[in-house]
Amino acid sequence: MTESTHETTHFCQNWQQQLAQAFTHIDDLCRYLDLNPSDLPISATAAQQFAMRVPLSFAACMEKGNPFDPLLRQVLPITDELAFYAGYSNDPVGDLPAATQTGILHKYQGRVLLINTGSCAINCRYCFRRNFPYADLQLSKQQEHAAILSIQNDPSIQEVIFSGGDPLLLNDARLTRLIEQINQIDHIKRIRIHSRLPIVLPARITPELINILTQSPKQIILVLHCNHANELNERVITACQALKKHGITLLNQSVLLKGVNDDAAVLCELSERLFQHGVIPYYLHLLDKATGTGHFAVSETEALLLMERVQASLSGYLVPKLVKEVAGAESKRYVVG
Ligand SMILES: *Cc1c(COP(=O)(O)O)cnc(C)c1O
Ligand code: SF4
Repeated sequence: MTESTHETTHFCQNWQQQLAQAFTHIDDLCRYLDLNPSDLPISATAAQQFAMRVPLSFAACMEKGNPFDPLLRQVLPITDELAFYAGYSNDPVGDLPAATQTGILHKYQGRVLLINTGSCAINCRYCFRRNFPYADLQLSKQQEHAAILSIQNDPSIQEVIFSGGDPLLLNDARLTRLIEQINQIDHIKRIRIHSRLPIVLPARITPELINILTQSPKQIILVLHCNHANELNERVITACQALKKHGITLLNQSVLLKGVNDDAAVLCELSERLFQHGVIPYYLHLLDKATGTGHFAVSETEALLLMERVQASLSGYLVPKLVKEVAGAESKRYVVG
């Protein structure tokens, strides 16, 4: 696939500029993909409930002219989102709103989530976050300080997980400040960053960012979020290789999504390609039952059948753990037959 001059110019810009130019109008995305909007089940209401947002870098991985593209399905607001599904709610996991007030979510032993931005570079239609309009949330300096203090005062915490939103949307100065503060806390062994940016906006992986990460005396783990091998284009691969070369551990989590990756061959290829570029498959999540996402659901029975086939054809370390979030449970729950 050859790039247009427009694309080449776009990808020469810095990540903030690229982010500012993400597709937010459905018609623009359709034009770029050579699709006729009237041939697609687009819903303006769905787009109003949760805005469309797609960086060009991610759109460039889609197949032009394919209305069923598995990447397009992850981001296009469609009428299915308005359908009613029993058991779906606005807060399926039950703790996000509280966490976004304090910045801390301490649910599992030994590790806490530190959430200090609510925004993302991309809006994934299946995300539980779609029903919380906290996109502009940023912890104030005071709130951040209080969050750090609470981690400092709890020696049972060994790992701090930057989550969000997407923590790599914080600028370098804020990230540096945050990592430096956590580095002061003796009982913290590791810092983990959960981010989709290396996949959807690989320009974020600058030499300066890599420098910030490698200068931390605590181990840094980066957990990516990639659902389909097509998301791994040249720019993404280059970003992963740069991180890997500097000793950063790369893991991946995916969500099992109907019409995207609910196929053994697709899951196998994803694992193979991730590993080829230095990323270890970690989790495959069952969908959280958030309102508007029911059409993405894969049943547990189907998921287990898929996993059997994946396990039969891949080396053990290429098989992600199938997990689900259970409100009130002490950890993510392994889904087993
Ligand atoms: C997923 C998650 C973690 C991390 O769990 P791991 O199994 O260690 O990856 C921590 N806290 C919360 C609230 C989570 O949802
Ligand atoms: S990047 Fe992650 S948190 Fe952000 S919308 Fe997508 S799934 Fe949700």
